[in-house]
Amino acid sequence: LPDPDAAGLTDEGVAALLPRPDARSDKYRRGVVGVAAGSHRYTGAAVLAVGGAIRAGAGMVRYAGVAEPVAQVRARWPEAVVTELAPAEDGGHAGPEAGTGHADPEAGTGRADPEDTGPDAGGVDPGKRIEDVGRVQAWVLGPGLGTGPEAHAVARAVLASDVPVLVDADGLTLIAHDRSLLRRDAPVLITPHAGELSRLLQVSRGKIEARRLEYARLAAAELGVTVLLKGSTTVVAREGDPVRVNPTGSPWLATGGTGDVLAGLAGALLAAGLDCYDAASCAAYLHGMAGRHGPLAAGDVAEALPEVMRSVTNRPRHRR
Ligand code: AMP
Ligand code: MG
Repeated sequence: LPDPDAAGLTDEGVAALLPRPDARSDKYRRGVVGVAAGSHRYTGAAVLAVGGAIRAGAGMVRYAGVAEPVAQVRARWPEAVVTELAPAEDGGHAGPEAGTGHADPEAGTGRADPEDTGPDAGGVDPGKRIEDVGRVQAWVLGPGLGTGPEAHAVARAVLASDVPVLVDADGLTLIAHDRSLLRRDAPVLITPHAGELSRLLQVSRGKIEARRLEYARLAAAELGVTVLLKGSTTVVAREGDPVRVNPTGSPWLATGGTGDVLAGLAGALLAAGLDCYDAASCAAYLHGMAGRHGPLAAGDVAEALPEVMRSVTNRPRHRR
């Protein structure tokens, strides 16, 4: 059996890992997060993931997506630098490939609608691609992205970068169907719930729920990634390290969109320079604290992050 380890997952432990700005900081050094999320159909996931990153104190958030989520992100987050991606050259049909539909009702996101894209959608065609987004220190890939050819192309471009990538939601469906996307040198952090891990490992959801630590560890070894397995208890696994069991959280978090906020939050910590294991652990811890009091909407979790981060870091410190 894996040895569960909550060591380090305390206010003091997390505070010691969290980056703090100092006099030499600038927005680039504090961490630029790229967010590749959202689709014509799923705009909210993009707004929430960007919000998680901004409220976690990212130096800058660069968002890339198609017209509808771009409009929503611009309206909600003036702080984000937004790039509108060009529709696909073939007319933008981002319909589902056979077999990539969401069998899992808990997936929380979905494929792009095959009918609502086109070369004339939105009028102006900025013609931008992921490569045009600009330099980032980490990417968040997948919330609400869709699973069709356009989404696949975005995933391929993001994963071709040389920075850490967090893969969530539809990004996980894309890699479940095309593991070659994971062939890269830079680190990958995946953030599945049990249903998403079930698709990735081709193991039933029930088996995973019954032995969450073991399957998180197995996935980390088999895929060569860090795994943050979400659920009523969230665990973090990386090959060669003890599985960390997050002690915070509450069932109020069981509401649509909270996973998208977690992705943005963890992405901000990756961009700030934490490795996947520490970024995942700290993100799960802070997200759980931010979701303690309900009823809540996912956006409230993002809004609660600054106060939670202050309360964690302002405790009397025993280190340094
Ligand atoms: P997602 O599955 O992507 O929608 O993300 C849901 C978020 O809510 C994850 O961070 C889960 O860990 C958390 N969550 C879901 N259900 C529970 C629960 N019963 N207790 C605590 N956290 C939960
Ligand atoms: Mg999700």
